Amino acid sequence: MKHDTTPLLSAVPGTARTLDSFRFGPADAEKRVYIQGALHADELPGMLVAWTLKQRLNAFDEAGLLRAEVIVVPVANPIGLDQQLMDVPLGRYDFESLANFNRHFADVSDAIAEGLEPLLSDDAAHNQRVIRERFYSALGAITPANAYEHQHLVLQQLACRADYVLDLHCDFEAVPHLYTTPNAWPTFEPLARYIGSMAQPLAADSGGQSFDECFTLVWEQLRTRFGDRYPIPYGTASVTVELRGQGDVDYTLAEQDSDAILNWMRHHALIDEPAPALPDLLFPATELSAMEFLKAPAGGLLVFHVAPGTEVHKGQRIADIIDPISDEVHPVTATQAGMLYARNQRHMATRGMIVADIAGFDAKRSGYLLAP
Ligand SMILES: [Zn+2]
Repeated sequence: MKHDTTPLLSAVPGTARTLDSFRFGPADAEKRVYIQGALHADELPGMLVAWTLKQRLNAFDEAGLLRAEVIVVPVANPIGLDQQLMDVPLGRYDFESLANFNRHFADVSDAIAEGLEPLLSDDAAHNQRVIRERFYSALGAITPANAYEHQHLVLQQLACRADYVLDLHCDFEAVPHLYTTPNAWPTFEPLARYIGSMAQPLAADSGGQSFDECFTLVWEQLRTRFGDRYPIPYGTASVTVELRGQGDVDYTLAEQDSDAILNWMRHHALIDEPAPALPDLLFPATELSAMEFLKAPAGGLLVFHVAPGTEVHKGQRIADIIDPISDEVHPVTATQAGMLYARNQRHMATRGMIVADIAGFDAKRSGYLLAP
């Protein structure tokens, strides 16, 4: 195991943070995997899984079984991890800019594309190598305006030359689910099976420049620009894995999830061991544009009728919002059939608040498809 420490720009004198990454396996391996936890710093199941994976990967590395280099960043957001307010951890948004830590990753596709054509050839592997190095350099050429941007760039540089990027998150209260692109879905479908994922909404571009998409979109754009003349592969397949809810920081679950990720690696011959048989896929892939955010029609006390992991039908009563003063009870109903896979943990709903997420089949949303 190799431990690298990257100093992060400090926001004020007298403070210092680092981004710590751990490398396992042969540095010259043909494939590279990047795994990070807790980019949303109050989503800690992924940090526990990343820590568990560190121990497991180290053992595989010492036994000579790794066929890929694996980079693990268990603490992907030291800035957000340090944000506590009145005993509540608040790691989703940056206190200074109010920006979501999983949005606004740099888009360097123009910088990569400029002057790229003379370097391309008929060899897809060559083109992939050239583009990866230019991707890394283009990120390095950006001068970050603040600590948030610097942390973003360090994470992007660590991951941009990986074949596979796994970004470990969680929801408020949820069953395991994942988000990826239609193109990467065949790569991660085995992971969905091993991890018991109960929803897999897919989108090529959800509009937020999130961590997973900041890699895949570059390759999409380069394929659009040059793909008719040169073979350009999808250099990175990335996935956002949602490891249940914020409260699910648990040894048994982390062991299960680590096993699932390692089995997925075995399946792709990234670990030199046979992979166990694939379990059933618990719910089909759907379109992210068909995912429904159920919203609170009024403010009030939120009481659920349905738990995450329930297939619901159109019109089914999911929750009630109670005004204990007027005695009004506002039902929240499913607008379409699908899998209810996540729900809010705030039980005093504010008007318009997202109450629950349903992976449905009726693709009617467009534009920005993510939660705030
Ligand atoms: Zn998250």
